[in-house]
Amino acid sequence: MIQRETPTPERPHRRTEGPVRTCVGCRKRELAVDLLRVVAVSNGNGHCALTVDQAGNLPGRGAWLHPDDRCLQAAFRRRAFGRALRITGSPDTSAVVEYVEKSTGQTSPAREQAAKNMSTP
Ligand SMILES: [Zn+2]
Repeated sequence: MIQRETPTPERPHRRTEGPVRTCVGCRKRELAVDLLRVVAVSNGNGHCALTVDQAGNLPGRGAWLHPDDRCLQAAFRRRAFGRALRITGSPDTSAVVEYVEKSTGQTSPAREQAAKNMSTP
């Protein structure tokens, strides 16, 4: 059996460049470029609203999330945004919900519930 010195094989299916962050929903580590950066912005009356940092240049703490409704719901359930962003109270999450809905093309279960409640037969 001949053992040859082979150079470290490149893994074409896995990009390894760039910073890695942990999704606040499923806690999996992922390249930052594949995650959404969510930041909290004050809406001026003592409350915070979550927003997706699409340009990647908003200041402050960021929470990282897969653009996936399951991760979003998991993050809400565990109040992961509050912890990651050091927010007290419950922030307005509608912008992030809408963003994930748009990027997945799916309606969030939370929103479906609201729609059902509004349209009684
Ligand atoms: Zn995730």
